[in-house]
Amino acid sequence: MLKNFKRATLKSLKSTGVSTLVHNSRWRRQRLLILAYHGISIHDEHLWNGSMYLPREVFRARLETIAKSGCTVLPLDEAVSRLYANDLPDRSVAITFDDGNFDYQHSAFPLLKEFNFPSTLYLTTFYSQYNKPIFGIFCEYLLWKARSETLNLKPITGSESRIALKDAAARRAAFREIENHVRAQELSAEEKSEFAEALAKQLKVDYEALVEKRIMHLLAPDEVKQLAADGADIQLHTHRHRAPLERELFLREIEDNRQSIQAMTGSIPSHFCYPSGVYNPSFLPWLREAGIISATTCEMGFASRSSDQLLLPRFLDSAALSPIEFEGWLTGVSAALPRRRERKEHVA
Ligand SMILES: [Zn+2]
Repeated sequence: MLKNFKRATLKSLKSTGVSTLVHNSRWRRQRLLILAYHGISIHDEHLWNGSMYLPREVFRARLETIAKSGCTVLPLDEAVSRLYANDLPDRSVAITFDDGNFDYQHSAFPLLKEFNFPSTLYLTTFYSQYNKPIFGIFCEYLLWKARSETLNLKPITGSESRIALKDAAARRAAFREIENHVRAQELSAEEKSEFAEALAKQLKVDYEALVEKRIMHLLAPDEVKQLAADGADIQLHTHRHRAPLERELFLREIEDNRQSIQAMTGSIPSHFCYPSGVYNPSFLPWLREAGIISATTCEMGFASRSSDQLLLPRFLDSAALSPIEFEGWLTGVSAALPRRRERKEHVA
């Protein structure tokens, strides 16, 4: 209902020229739209989770819209410094990707190059060095792939549960059982990889084929090095994709991440993105202590000079968003319209 109302309103605003007025307004000129992406599909990932993955053709259409609408796509570092210097060009946009999935190199970077758009990749480094499928999301994806099957947990967790995976609620329940098992057994990264392989086998999904395609893998260090040499901006996202509430542990996450990125790219990263978008006021002095210039959240909105530099909102694009809604965000019109509450549970 809200979606239909919004689309109709956006269409009418566009036809009456209000969108163009907002687009060219001082309000929009003083704001930066930081776009946030996670993955651009290699295969069918967007059918599993359209809030995390966009099909390549949709991503290409987004870039075409950005190019046609006269936006200026800035490198993140320049965008942040010009935002606070009140020196942004018209319709400023920065493009960011979270996590550092292999699909950034495979599906996104060639398109960004084609349009000559700079982009920032917030890289979490543990699964870059240990280059196996990312355990949690990979298991969820396997359960979805096998949605016509019944999962027998007995051979892999010892539990008597048999779960038909047809509907999403059952798949969530199955994943919870897996998470509980992994936590209770305190499985190591290697043991989790063995578990994922056993799960795939149990579900009759071709594990080797997924590994070969690098589905739900992060970029390996030599790939990150190549991307940096080709102009990608590689920044911080913690080493183990977690933000501990204890100062020493938090700073260690940043330091391990920074050293790992520096070894791959030769540059020292100083921009940060909160893993899973989760932030806490106690992080801010720690980030300042670590010399972080900017930090981005998963809160939906435009960044302005009144935004805290360590709590910059972004716009999380998703496959469910219509072209007119996306355009509404570029122009700034959508910021004034009511929004559904964002689902956070799949933000990685
Ligand atoms: Zn993340």
